[in-house]
Amino acid sequence: MTFTTRFAPSPTGPLHLGHAYSAMLASDKAASEGGTFLLRIEDIDQSRARPKWEDQIYADLEWLGLSWPTPVLRQSERIQIYEQALDTLWSKGLLYPCTCNRKDIAAAASAPQEGAPLHGPDGIIYPGTCRHKASRNSVERPKDTPLRLDMAMAAQSVLPHGTGSFLELGTGPNGETGRISFDKTELETTIGDVVLSRRGMGTSYHLSVALDDAAQGVTHVIRGQDLFEATRIHVLLQALLGLPTPEYLHHRLIRDPNGKRLAKRDDARAIAKYRDEGATPQDIRAMVNL
Ligand code: GLU
Repeated sequence: MTFTTRFAPSPTGPLHLGHAYSAMLASDKAASEGGTFLLRIEDIDQSRARPKWEDQIYADLEWLGLSWPTPVLRQSERIQIYEQALDTLWSKGLLYPCTCNRKDIAAAASAPQEGAPLHGPDGIIYPGTCRHKASRNSVERPKDTPLRLDMAMAAQSVLPHGTGSFLELGTGPNGETGRISFDKTELETTIGDVVLSRRGMGTSYHLSVALDDAAQGVTHVIRGQDLFEATRIHVLLQALLGLPTPEYLHHRLIRDPNGKRLAKRDDARAIAKYRDEGATPQDIRAMVNL
């Protein structure tokens, strides 16, 4: 099997040491496997993406010594592809419009009979308020309204014997490794009805990532452990849309001295800052133990 992996940053802030680790690890693996390292710009959130950060991504990665085929795939240029996939899921009756805002969800999820709200990969697990409100039978998919996936129905329709799985070559946050299986009940109770089309975006992270990994022929997804839990959503979407499931390698997260995961706002650990201070790419490798 040819080996193709990718680094998929969002141009919403400076790349930091955690991004450097992820990108260099993926590039190193591709080199050692005689495979390909791809770059993908995840810029579906146009309210936060900035050309300045995209340019900085190219500059930082080049400085680190990485290279990739061009032109790079930019998600903002693929909205039509995402919309087609939404049409497919809509025509199967698997999506429904949702008008709840964060406050509504928090209030419904913490109603006395519900107990403490449960959290999934996207925050509070949606309590299902809009699930049976609107008709799903209209021919036209509603535009400009967030759409949620009916998780129970989706899982029922594609998981053979009610279970799905993927191969984990790295480790999840709790040491999960090897063949990771999950079932319909787990999807319903620990993930729930995720949003597949967000207002103003026409897609969502989960939908775009599933479609783009397939479109780019990605055989190995290498990314941080923070996305391990979301992988079940991606595997389910692959099954729903007839896409192959790649193998996954979730890696450790780079943390600050207090043990906190680095975030985009951790400008202090921005690659550009280290570079300005005279660090070399080898210094960066040493800092992340690579
Ligand atoms: N765009 C995501 C991020 O910047 C990464 C997505 C992925 O690797 O699947 O965190």
